[in-house]
Amino acid sequence: MQRSGNAGPAVNSRPVIVNDRWCKGCDICVVFCPKKVLERPEGGKAQVVRGEDCTRCGICEMMCPDFAITLVPAGDKMESRFGRLGGNADA
Ligand code: SF4
Ligand code: SF4
Repeated sequence: MQRSGNAGPAVNSRPVIVNDRWCKGCDICVVFCPKKVLERPEGGKAQVVRGEDCTRCGICEMMCPDFAITLVPAGDKMESRFGRLGGNADA
């Protein structure tokens, strides 16, 4: 079950947050994610499409040259905090 907003245990549905303002659409995170959690539409920004498969390995966060990805610690409610950054964080 996925929820949006600040209420409830929605953290596992969005294990990483992509900041659209910083993402330049280079595809590095998409290529390096071992679980194919991320995708990028043509001309768009990286998006979480299989959040349930994320192992929180941190590779995407480490590889992004623009620091546009933030790994959300398991059990943390950072999703609501990072929502203010815009992009697909609060899509
Ligand atoms: S590596 Fe960073 S800049 Fe490149 S597509 Fe992924 S989030 Fe965007
Ligand atoms: S933390 Fe690992 S598994 Fe999760 S999206 Fe990033 S690279 Fe993929």
